[in-house]
Amino acid sequence: MTGEGLYLDGVTVVFDGFRALNTLSLLVAPGELRAVIGPNGAGKTTMMDVITGKTRPVSGIARFDGHDLTRMEESVIANLGIGRKFQKPTVFDALTVFENLELALKAPRGPVACLRWRLSGAARSAIERTAEQVGLAERASDPAGRLSHGQRQWLEIGMLLMQDPKLVLVDEPVAGMTDHETAETARLLVGIAGERSVVVVEHDLDFVRALGCRVTVLHEGTMLSEGSIDHVQADPRVVEVYLGR
Ligand code: ADP
Repeated sequence: MTGEGLYLDGVTVVFDGFRALNTLSLLVAPGELRAVIGPNGAGKTTMMDVITGKTRPVSGIARFDGHDLTRMEESVIANLGIGRKFQKPTVFDALTVFENLELALKAPRGPVACLRWRLSGAARSAIERTAEQVGLAERASDPAGRLSHGQRQWLEIGMLLMQDPKLVLVDEPVAGMTDHETAETARLLVGIAGERSVVVVEHDLDFVRALGCRVTVLHEGTMLSEGSIDHVQADPRVVEVYLGR
């Protein structure tokens, strides 16, 4: 049970005596797309923080591909191939889509490598492939500042992909998007899973339904229900604490 993929078992996080996570267990297989939903304060952000090493649990196991995440620095965890996309995009408006993707490829190599950087044919192909994958191939030469809100979110997902992560954590990607952008985002995330695991925290249940994946419902820091969207939406415990409010 501690081999490939993401494995949380009995994870407990305490803030000033309050249990933000309370014996949370979660298993996400390599290549799996998983949605995590739950009311405000359920512990979704804290769960992501444990996975990226930002927050340390007081007890429980958190492993990725067999590595113990509870003992590692954030930078070491990032090097394991875990990438996180926060809600607010951090793209560079003055740079083009292509340049943003190029920066995401070269920046983690450090300042010296950046100064010596020359765009190779292989790097160009990787950037073009990613631009295509996130639906921005036609916008590659446009400054990121001219993109719509949704397109900026996709660019940031593309920037994460430039690091070829094994696990992508995505925080509320469709907040503020149009219906069309929301549908495209579902398509994009389904497309990038398979090659890597993707965990999406989201409030929008129509979007979660469009993902067509297994859903984990958190409540009071623990797993309340898990299964298809139909299964969890019909679960009386979920209806009571979340959907029925
Ligand atoms: P969600 O992302 O599902 O809304 P969070 O993980 O942000 O939930 O929060 C879970 C609970 O932990 C909330 O009650 C929140 O107030 C509390 N919490 C989160 N971070 C801290 C912190 N740094 N200090 C104290 N309490 C916190």
